[in-house]
Amino acid sequence: MAIRDLLIILGDQLDRESPLFIGAEPSQDCIWMAEVREESTQVWTHKARIALFLSAMRHFRDELREKGWRVEYREIDARPATLADELRGTIVRLQPDRVRVVEPGEYRVAQALRQVCPALDVVTDTHFLCTNEEFTKHRQGRKQLRLEFFYREMRRRYGVLMDGDQPAGGDWNYDSENRGTFGKGGPDTVPAPATFTPDTVTRKVLHQVNDLFASHPGELRDFDWPVTPVDAESALHDFLDHRLPSFGKYQDAMWTAQPFLYHSRLSSALNLKLIHPRRVIAAAEERYRSGRAPLAAVEGFIRQILGWREYVRGVYWLYMPAYAASNALGAHQPLPRFYWTGDTDMQCLRAAIGQTLEFGYAHHIQRLMITGLFALLLGVEPKQVHEWYLAVYVDAVEWVELPNTIGMSQFADGGIMASKPYAATGKYIQRMSNYCSGCQYDPSQSTGAKACPFATLYWDFLMRHEERFRTNQRMLMQMRNMERMRPAQRAAIQEQAESLRQTLTDAG
Ligand SMILES: Cc1cc2nc3c(=O)[nH]c(=O)nc-3n(C[C@H](O)[C@H](O)[C@H](O)COP(=O)(O)OP(=O)(O)OC[C@H]3O[C@@H](n4cnc5c(N)ncnc54)[C@H](O)[C@@H]3O)c2cc1C
Ligand code: SF4
Repeated sequence: MAIRDLLIILGDQLDRESPLFIGAEPSQDCIWMAEVREESTQVWTHKARIALFLSAMRHFRDELREKGWRVEYREIDARPATLADELRGTIVRLQPDRVRVVEPGEYRVAQALRQVCPALDVVTDTHFLCTNEEFTKHRQGRKQLRLEFFYREMRRRYGVLMDGDQPAGGDWNYDSENRGTFGKGGPDTVPAPATFTPDTVTRKVLHQVNDLFASHPGELRDFDWPVTPVDAESALHDFLDHRLPSFGKYQDAMWTAQPFLYHSRLSSALNLKLIHPRRVIAAAEERYRSGRAPLAAVEGFIRQILGWREYVRGVYWLYMPAYAASNALGAHQPLPRFYWTGDTDMQCLRAAIGQTLEFGYAHHIQRLMITGLFALLLGVEPKQVHEWYLAVYVDAVEWVELPNTIGMSQFADGGIMASKPYAATGKYIQRMSNYCSGCQYDPSQSTGAKACPFATLYWDFLMRHEERFRTNQRMLMQMRNMERMRPAQRAAIQEQAESLRQTLTDAG
């Protein structure tokens, strides 16, 4: 059969309403999907992330075939295949009139596809609420980007949580109500999130991943992520019914052996396009309108999706490819080896990395204020930090991971994403979690045998970057506290920080 259009569907483009289908016909067009080793080995990818992508892709393939589509599908094997080579082979074999794809989520993939097919027809991605062109326009004429302005614009534009032209409840932002902690007793019983028992398709994938990627980090024992739109919808309902009302208050809190708390676990389903952000936002707003969830919780949740999620995508495409190489703070330390094993005596890092390796999941504050914070304070090379985050989370796709890592957590972009680095001592972790109570270190000490490494490295970080941050208005208090230190105290901290860096480097 002569092929009119070859429709490329990438692993994170499993959108049942994809704009690629507009005007497409199973009788003359053909869908192309490929599982290739390159996508799982370009960073040392967590087994659960590999399995999630492959299982979700195969479920979509089977659905498409049932609907009568011809799907050229390559399943993973041990050969070192790349997307580009596989696509080239298919184009030579099928000789389509046209090759079409929705905007890829990664700069590297977009470049590779264009190289194979210079006449590639790239279709705007309707799974986002702000196009790249619209974000560029938003940036124009502004001195700097700030989430809050973008977020308000999006609320007005889509009429989300709006009463007429005013924000619901009178305020745009209820962030100050979203910093609750559990106190000594810990959280009440947290409702366990919905789980999705692997079906035949998923079980085959789990088996193959264990076989082909045996040396990769992570576990598959507890694999239970949504892999179809039906699963994703049910995960959404489970969150709305059981966890949304407490989401806002405890958004930033952490607790031992509570990997998910009141979070939605929807990021991977959103990023693979199993569920549309518009659907998630509307369902959350409905809970507020019907009096079933407080405004602060619903606003806090919607801000993450309508605000941050769209914002980081805009930043990614506006600043790539230079963005990936940013290193504004000149950080060159290697990533400590324990990031791949969780084997450290710092209890907060042990918990955050441990659950990451077990489930491919950590919530935002664990990523930002534990693993990210430690790498920032230690001065780890941003590229290595980026590669770790891209590898270990089931929801990792570069357009969202990179600005969060390079910009928000490492301040390597020099202030495009955030007006100041998220630098803090272990006292922040002590306030927001119970990790410190089981730790051999003391968050209030910055030198000596019991000194919390976060405290030592925090002061050392401020000293190392004194020149740069002295004039940052939002850091005045932090800098003043540091400048008040006696020279002997400064020297002791610097010496201890250097010794820490050396020990971690020697450990490989
Ligand atoms: C260093 C670092 C790396 C990150 N890497 C990723 C990544 O690879 N993929 C990813 O989806 N998110 C990433 N995030 C953002 C955030 O941590 C995750 O989206 C969130 O933890 C996913 O869990 P959840 O679905 O339970 O989220 P919830 O806490 O329930 O939040 C709801 C939704 O809001 C969105 N969201 C929340 N925060 C952000 C944010 N900062 N940026 C974009 N979207 C956000 C997600 O879609 C999430 O599902 C990263 C954050 C940091 C600090
Ligand atoms: S004392 Fe320091 S290292 Fe230990 S858990 Fe607390 S913050 Fe982490």
